[in-house]
Amino acid sequence: MTKADIKSIKQLLATPKNIVIVPHKNPDGDAIGSTLALYHYLKKYNHNATVMVPNDYPDFLKWIPGSEHILKHDTETEACEMLINAADIIFTLDFNAFHRTGNMETVLTESKAMKIMIDHHQSPDDYAAFVFSDVNMSSTCEMIYHFIDMLGDTNAIDANIATCIYVGIMTDTGSFRFPSTTSKTHQIIANLIEKGANNAEIHNNVYDTNSYERLQLLGCALSNLKVIPEARTAYITLSQDELNQFNYKKGDTEGVVNYGLSLKNIVLAAIFIEDKKEGIIKISLRSKGSFSVNEFSRAHFNGGGHTNAAGGRSELCLKETVEKFISILPRYNKALNDD
Ligand code: 5GP
Ligand code: MN
Repeated sequence: MTKADIKSIKQLLATPKNIVIVPHKNPDGDAIGSTLALYHYLKKYNHNATVMVPNDYPDFLKWIPGSEHILKHDTETEACEMLINAADIIFTLDFNAFHRTGNMETVLTESKAMKIMIDHHQSPDDYAAFVFSDVNMSSTCEMIYHFIDMLGDTNAIDANIATCIYVGIMTDTGSFRFPSTTSKTHQIIANLIEKGANNAEIHNNVYDTNSYERLQLLGCALSNLKVIPEARTAYITLSQDELNQFNYKKGDTEGVVNYGLSLKNIVLAAIFIEDKKEGIIKISLRSKGSFSVNEFSRAHFNGGGHTNAAGGRSELCLKETVEKFISILPRYNKALNDD
């Protein structure tokens, strides 16, 4: 984003506008945190701003300030599409292509509103008039902080905005441990705490509000964990029957893939989750070091993401998806055993 872009955006935001803010489908902590942070910021300047998610998000994010005002496109379609059609500006956050919003793709593609993209995924599409895209950023939330900073307005960051930004940086960095976490990330976190983000309370709200069933489901996932030592790979499966047995709710499998990566010597971890309703297997991939799960997922599983964290999908059944995954690995033997 150039200085000229920032100047133009400042001019645009100088008078109240109809603004819609959209994250990707199945929004995570960074998606909800970044959209709500921007929402609180724009509200300060009397914009008519709305956060609109393609579908529901996990309960452990429902305490975040402003979450009570979020509209859901899948259940409130008419209200959402009216707002999109009346919007002057649409901010698209934490995704790189409209298809990542699921059923919102058409209405977003057809919308005449000016689009502003803020995102840290690879290969951004070019639908936006203004693009702030940086794959080196830990999170879209960190980019929202920089965006407000570029507008010369960090004084406007209050406790609500700070809390929202903190959530997304925390969740997308695995609590400040992934390599994307820089000294600048920590400096921003320090500033956010000074501005009123209650770090202990935020960690507690997100990570220590598990249901008993969620932990039982984790137990099931861990007992399904398989290791392929020669490929330095670990994977987990969860069938629809297993999800049902533990009364699965959205968000219950969040983070489970990381357990595979916690094994000594493992550099690639995957989880395959059966979704009978959508007729797909949802795949999450994580890696350590230079092995790119973004490229791996783009090449084989209709997905993408970042070098060390990506998602994908398969229309084969669970068994066949796992067999396909295992059969591909030998091609990557060298890359997986590189260091
Ligand atoms: P998760 O495994 O948690 O669903 O996704 C890991 C990361 O990859 C997240 O940053 C997510 O936004 C991204 N991601 C997940 N699925 C896709 C996909 O289909 N395409 C792209 N480009 N990114 C994805
Ligand atoms: Mn993100």
